[in-house]
Amino acid sequence: MTEKALNPFKVAQAQLDEAAEQLKLDPAIHKLLRTPLRELHVTLPVRMDDGSTQIFQGFRVQYNDARGPTKGGIRFHWEETIDTVRALAAWMTWKCAVVDIPLGGGKGGIICDPRKLSMGELERLSRAYIRQVGRIIGLEKDSPAPDVYTTPQIMAWMMDEFSFLKGQNEFGVITGKPLPLGGSAGRGDATARGGMFCLREAANLLNVELKGATGAIQGYGNAGSFAHMLAEELFGMKIVAVSDSRGGIYNPDGMLYEEVFKFKKETGKVGGFPGSKEITNEELLELDVDVLFPSALESVITASNAENIKAKISVELANGPTSPEADLILYKNGVYIIPDFLANAGGVTVSYFEMVQNAYDYYWDLETVHERLDKKMTSAFHAVHKTREEHKVHSRLAAYMVAINRVAEAVSLRGWA
Ligand code: GLU
Repeated sequence: MTEKALNPFKVAQAQLDEAAEQLKLDPAIHKLLRTPLRELHVTLPVRMDDGSTQIFQGFRVQYNDARGPTKGGIRFHWEETIDTVRALAAWMTWKCAVVDIPLGGGKGGIICDPRKLSMGELERLSRAYIRQVGRIIGLEKDSPAPDVYTTPQIMAWMMDEFSFLKGQNEFGVITGKPLPLGGSAGRGDATARGGMFCLREAANLLNVELKGATGAIQGYGNAGSFAHMLAEELFGMKIVAVSDSRGGIYNPDGMLYEEVFKFKKETGKVGGFPGSKEITNEELLELDVDVLFPSALESVITASNAENIKAKISVELANGPTSPEADLILYKNGVYIIPDFLANAGGVTVSYFEMVQNAYDYYWDLETVHERLDKKMTSAFHAVHKTREEHKVHSRLAAYMVAINRVAEAVSLRGWA
């Protein structure tokens, strides 16, 4: 089996096993952390615009709630499987622990191709999902959020459906909502911004000058497009390549966020952007740039291309982009990885801020959100870097060690094992 065909949940379990060994974790706790505590599989009939009914399949996995209610996004993707959702729910558990917010990890998904659904169909699918998973979610139980191909508008429909089920407004059931419906200032670009705070710290440690540094971004969704904006705005970086699911574009002189974003909004893709050369998603990863931002999907850097990665720093805004074998190759070659569940934890951190604001019905200004996010991300980055140096391990393993320790402590204090 090629590494590319690896099941993401098996990857997540292998990563946990490695950290458990390093930490000499209690065997019962280790076993408990290898599988989800709960999962719900749902079947969703949806009336399509042409009058027919299509049946969709969806999932919600509550991986571990020892440290607090489960939390994690909902993905709409044609290749969704229960095992990708399990892996992503595990990664959410470690993500919330590494930034030390009082939440557990969960994830949801629907097998569908959102690119082929009308707005009306998307709305009916979103509401159908909540009618099924509504029984297991809520501010104090499990709070979903946006993820691959889901948006603030989808969160608004979902919150609205849940509120009708409960007979009252329940803003805190979901985060990443639009501002007029209990959304938080700063949630939109929070995933990318959190990654940028980590990048700033890493660049300082590695003596990489970010002003004028080159960057390539794989993926142009919730994470990647904002990474483009912030790399320019915060550091004055030059983004020479970006891509989406249809392919990538390259221009060694750099491409401006404002122009690429506008082009993608108008045409639905980045391909064909004036002045750029078309490249594949695979070629983008291997470009000779200072900073790589894998911001699309899992398993894109594997044993088969890891030797060709030339970036100095890889800021993993996607979940699970690098396979375990590739991790070792990049570590050996001196590529500094800011691992996914640290690099992209800004999203869930501001989601947590959103839940707190919803619970108090009192809203913070943008400056307060940015300040508090910076504080969380910076201290998480340094906790991971310190463990990396002390134990002489790669960053992902160090991040696992920090996170697993915290979850294991909660499991043990509760008396579960
Ligand atoms: N889907 C995002 C993630 O993978 C955000 C989750 C959340 O805000 O709950 O971290």
